[in-house]
Amino acid sequence: KKNVLIIGAGGVAQVVAHKCAQNNDVLGDITIASRTLEKCEAIVASVREKNALKVDGKLEAHALDAMDVEATKALITKTGAQIVINVGSPFLNMSVMSACIETGAAYIDTAIHEDPMKICETPPWYANYEWKRREECEKAGVTAILGAGFDPGVVNAYAKLAYDEYFDKIESIDIVDINAGDHGRYFATNFDPEINFREFTGQVWTWQNNEWTSNKMFEVGKEWDLPVVGKRKAYLTGHDEVHSLSHILKVPTVRFWMGFGDHYINVFTVLKNLGLLSEQPVLTAEGQEVIPLKVVKAVLPDPGSLAPDYTGKTCIGDLVKGVKDGKEREVFIYNVADHKEAFEEVGSQGISYTAGVPAVAAAMLIATGEWDVKKMANVEELPAQPFLGLLNKIGLPTRIKDENGDRALEF
Ligand code: NDP
Repeated sequence: KKNVLIIGAGGVAQVVAHKCAQNNDVLGDITIASRTLEKCEAIVASVREKNALKVDGKLEAHALDAMDVEATKALITKTGAQIVINVGSPFLNMSVMSACIETGAAYIDTAIHEDPMKICETPPWYANYEWKRREECEKAGVTAILGAGFDPGVVNAYAKLAYDEYFDKIESIDIVDINAGDHGRYFATNFDPEINFREFTGQVWTWQNNEWTSNKMFEVGKEWDLPVVGKRKAYLTGHDEVHSLSHILKVPTVRFWMGFGDHYINVFTVLKNLGLLSEQPVLTAEGQEVIPLKVVKAVLPDPGSLAPDYTGKTCIGDLVKGVKDGKEREVFIYNVADHKEAFEEVGSQGISYTAGVPAVAAAMLIATGEWDVKKMANVEELPAQPFLGLLNKIGLPTRIKDENGDRALEF
């Protein structure tokens, strides 16, 4: 058993807390810490309401500014946390990682570190922050698992599985993320609008034919025909896992495609062209200084409020092409998740569910020792089977579609 400290109290943290509670025979005492204590307390209450704790154990809420390394270290020590699941905003990664390295606790996150002042980093993104600390982790014997959500995260494990089991040589990996859900609002983002829009205002970096290629957002689109969600258009998008997979698995082409409807693109384009997605302050005629992006965020629905009415499914997977036994082949390894089922189980929508469940699976594998590697690792550096096998059991089953049909994968 290993005690867990969850950092953040947003949609993903809500899922992580529920799943840790459902598995607290492997994980031990659970602490949820974020900037706003009331949000942590609401998560604790929601876990208790569903009677989610598998066995008797501690479940506590704490206020914490996770940018404060000393305060984070003190909380790790006080709670006896041996694993920290960082699902706060991506600006916190480096501070939380410092606290883990200095206390010896294992570290897990679900997104790459971001500097609030930089809109687009030079690739490979991990080299700008996390990978600079690889040696430090190894010296301290600290397990740090990077990007253990769905994408990045599970899609990296799908790539690793394909690499180990299904191909002698991989030519390309196309990760496709389709949210065919409907929240019923005119316009909303599925997570923090500031983070969401940042993803689409910078350059789109992809790894094609062994070199970094840059495009503009919504410049390259393609219609996909995927299981369950059917025909959907997705656009080449910059994403964390392109930066680690290209480097670690040394595949010539790695691309990420995200599905968008025309309505989302129209609204986004108007907001962007008007300057309403800018982080630079502007002065109103009355002499008031406002940051347009903050105003847009304030008027949009709170992403958490979308969950109760969200219906429909997500389909996220890796289309992998290459050669096996001298023959060209392609496989699509994927998961389908359901927004309503996620809400009924843990009180969050499907996007938060797909991100939070894998982080808990990673924590469980650290607790059992299978992933307790005592160094920094991206998911594709770790054995995929134990991770995907556990996900089959705890809510995110893997399927495969290839020349032998479409079927569930058992591990
Ligand atoms: P939210 O914006 O809903 O939550 C972020 C949380 O971080 C908030 O509770 C916020 O606290 C907290 N926080 C921010 N600053 C601090 C601080 N200084 N100290 C302590 N807490 C702080 O995000 P989500 O739950 O939607 O996402 C969480 C993470 O998961 C993000 O990094 C996101 O990028 C990642 N993600 C990964 C996915 C994947 O598949 N890999 C998919 C979706 C998300 P407060 O509310 O009090 O302000």
